[in-house]
Amino acid sequence: MMRKKSAAMLFIMCLAVLLHSSSYAAVQTSQLQRAWGKIASSAQLQHAPKVSIEDNEEPNAWVSFSMNQYSVHVTTGMLKILQTEDQIAGILGHETGHIKLGHYKETMGRNLLWVLLYRAFGSKDSKLDPLALGLALAESGFSRQQEVEADDYGIRLAARAGYDPWGLVQSLEIMKKAGYQTSPSGFNSHPPTERRLIHVTDTAKEVASH
Ligand SMILES: [Zn+2]
Repeated sequence: MMRKKSAAMLFIMCLAVLLHSSSYAAVQTSQLQRAWGKIASSAQLQHAPKVSIEDNEEPNAWVSFSMNQYSVHVTTGMLKILQTEDQIAGILGHETGHIKLGHYKETMGRNLLWVLLYRAFGSKDSKLDPLALGLALAESGFSRQQEVEADDYGIRLAARAGYDPWGLVQSLEIMKKAGYQTSPSGFNSHPPTERRLIHVTDTAKEVASH
């Protein structure tokens, strides 16, 4: 009798977890982590930590650095607004592009604010505040050329990892439609302008035709 009851309880709990997780994200956490695993290994990133999910309604994604360790962050708002694993793979590909192409190092060297914040947050024992550091990174700002390079890299990387090269194009279109092109931080600090969309569309076409 007791066993029956606890089995029923377990079933209800599983159902509740299932319903809850599907209501808060269109892209599931498991899809996000699987996409990151494939993207990171295709890019040959060593010891890539799991993606940190930040509880924030604003769709965003960014990479933070602490000492020589990096971590990738995605908000719950981003998972909610996207529809497929291919789309999040495109965004993770773009962020990986910034890592692999050395954009963070270039930007860091240029920017005193970043260096000061890095000293404040980046010591081994201090608690790293990824939101603050992500914002600092975004404020330091990537150049338009670096964004184009990260887009191209991300589309090719996603395709190499087995994902649809159109994923990044779709996610930029979704963000544009939802009016998220003017936020000051992270992935959406670089507005999905018409010109950017035209360029990623060209790259996706080229990659898809191979
Ligand atoms: Zn970027």
